[in-house]
Amino acid sequence: MELDLGVLTFVAAALVLLAIRAGVRLVRGRASSWGLGVAALVWWTVLAAVAGLVEAEHRVTQQLATSVTVMVSGRPGAVARCARRTSDMFDPSGNAGSVQWDSPDVARLRADTCDALWAWITSDKEHPTIEEVIALHVLAHEAVHVGGERAEAATECAAMGWDATVARALGASDAVAQQIAASYRQQVYPTMPDEYRGGC
Ligand SMILES: [Zn+2]
Repeated sequence: MELDLGVLTFVAAALVLLAIRAGVRLVRGRASSWGLGVAALVWWTVLAAVAGLVEAEHRVTQQLATSVTVMVSGRPGAVARCARRTSDMFDPSGNAGSVQWDSPDVARLRADTCDALWAWITSDKEHPTIEEVIALHVLAHEAVHVGGERAEAATECAAMGWDATVARALGASDAVAQQIAASYRQQVYPTMPDEYRGGC
């Protein structure tokens, strides 16, 4: 398995070490003063917690996206990869997701797409935003590619057939899942480039 380490992984690890160091200095009486020692401990602990939470968000979202990709593609070894912000900065394509044919089992999702998936996962799951609707569909679309379909129009059509199931798999009720599928079909699909339409 490929290790998924980003800049944030190392930043979070470094902050944990700094928090531990501040704690040890305080306990051993090596801080320049007790007040400053406590302040340093609190400061590094808060920063480590924030970085750790963002790192956990990345990993949890990626894991859930992977389980959906396996379900839709029917390929047990399929994975979804959420791009790190840092790698997205060097990707001028602007694609919300992609599959590269030299690694056809990997659904690549832009950081923004995974952020919207996370927003959906942590929401009340009753009021999907259009960004969340699109992210759920992009996940379905890339998973159809991973299943072996390369033509965009056919992929888009098959993905619309999966939208409600994907939404349910990520916590939507039947009614909201249908609403999500309908939102995509009615509001987003007609705006897609010609290449993506006409497959249904
Ligand atoms: Zn595509």
